[in-house]
Amino acid sequence: MARIVQKFGGTSVADVDRIKAVARRVKAEVDAGNQVAVVVSAMSGVTNQLVAHVDGVSSLYDAREYDVVVSSGEQVTSGLLALALQALGVSARSWLGWQIPVHTDGVHGKARIEGIENDELSRRMDGGEVVVMAGFQGLGPDNRITTLGRGGSDTSAVALAAALSAHRCDIYTDVDGVYTTDPRIVSKARKLNKITYEEMLEMASVGAKVLQTRSVEMAMKHGVRVEVRSSFADVRGTLVVDEDEIVEQELVSGIAYSRDEAKITLVQVADRPGVAASIFGPLSEASINVDMIVQNVSHGSGSARTDLTFTVAKTDLSRAVATLEERRDDLGFTALTADPDVVKISVIGVGMRSHAGVAQRMFQCLADKGINIQVISTSEIKVSVLVAEEYTELALRALHTAYGLDTE
Ligand code: ASP
Ligand code: MG
Repeated sequence: MARIVQKFGGTSVADVDRIKAVARRVKAEVDAGNQVAVVVSAMSGVTNQLVAHVDGVSSLYDAREYDVVVSSGEQVTSGLLALALQALGVSARSWLGWQIPVHTDGVHGKARIEGIENDELSRRMDGGEVVVMAGFQGLGPDNRITTLGRGGSDTSAVALAAALSAHRCDIYTDVDGVYTTDPRIVSKARKLNKITYEEMLEMASVGAKVLQTRSVEMAMKHGVRVEVRSSFADVRGTLVVDEDEIVEQELVSGIAYSRDEAKITLVQVADRPGVAASIFGPLSEASINVDMIVQNVSHGSGSARTDLTFTVAKTDLSRAVATLEERRDDLGFTALTADPDVVKISVIGVGMRSHAGVAQRMFQCLADKGINIQVISTSEIKVSVLVAEEYTELALRALHTAYGLDTE
């Protein structure tokens, strides 16, 4: 007998028939002798609708009330699934975040889980009851409902699996696993049988939106075995596991892309100590994250000047430009250019730690296709480049082939 957590995303619970189908899947695990806890998202589209309602009432909303509204979608699906299970003769009870409670910090709208009380849940599971937990929500220190950020029910599921010492955490979704790259763009993309936590983290942080990033961090920290699998097809998915579980490590496991980036260049900034701090300080005060950075010697000026190029989230671009323009005199740049039409492409693989030449293969491949690289950044297991957005498809396909990832 094993204890498992199953999480069903929005498309898996999109209507009553699908909720009934989910109940049958849960029942199959119960019939196989397992103790099951289920975590559900809201019906697909519902959270977006709730967010739109909040925006419609007030654009400068109180985050506490935002959480009250947007957490309600999961309340509906948890109750419906408990009913659907009961209709199949399975003993089941729904649980909202505050009832368990799922303790979080007080950052409304993007709260972090601090702990889940599990005595009562464990006791009920030992007694054969299925626990159906509403994902995406918790209880803050002020005793009010919090939500965990968009996509947060993945994190609810992994946190519950950790708290219950579950044997595995199955994330049911509308894709059947994690692919080497986006199969909608590269038809030769392959489903991975296994991927390491670290690779998954990098993939999630650079645009492959299969799992919420925090859920992967949490799985890595607590060693939760996660399987990403399809709700609609009965096939094995992708296991997210520790590195030493992977016997034959590919050099590169995946290629991700993000169109969420925008590029800013400050031309002819004074090249003196403290200048980077005076540029990036105000941006961070405005909660604008800077991702990739390059600094270049600027020609055509007598004194020491440098060009500085960096990227921010596309949604932060206009605020970033305004923040910098306000300080134009202090910073002393001669021009500022902003370019939203860029894409960040990243090749990811823990195999890079032990093999040289991964970056070079990327640069050569892009050069062969005549694609200009605007910014480069690297980490231990990732190389990212910024290129013009129009090359997204071409670059992804070429790189996928260059790293030998294509299916036959
Ligand atoms: N319903 C929430 C959202 O759409 C949480 C989730 O589905 O993971 O973001
Ligand atoms: Mg999701």
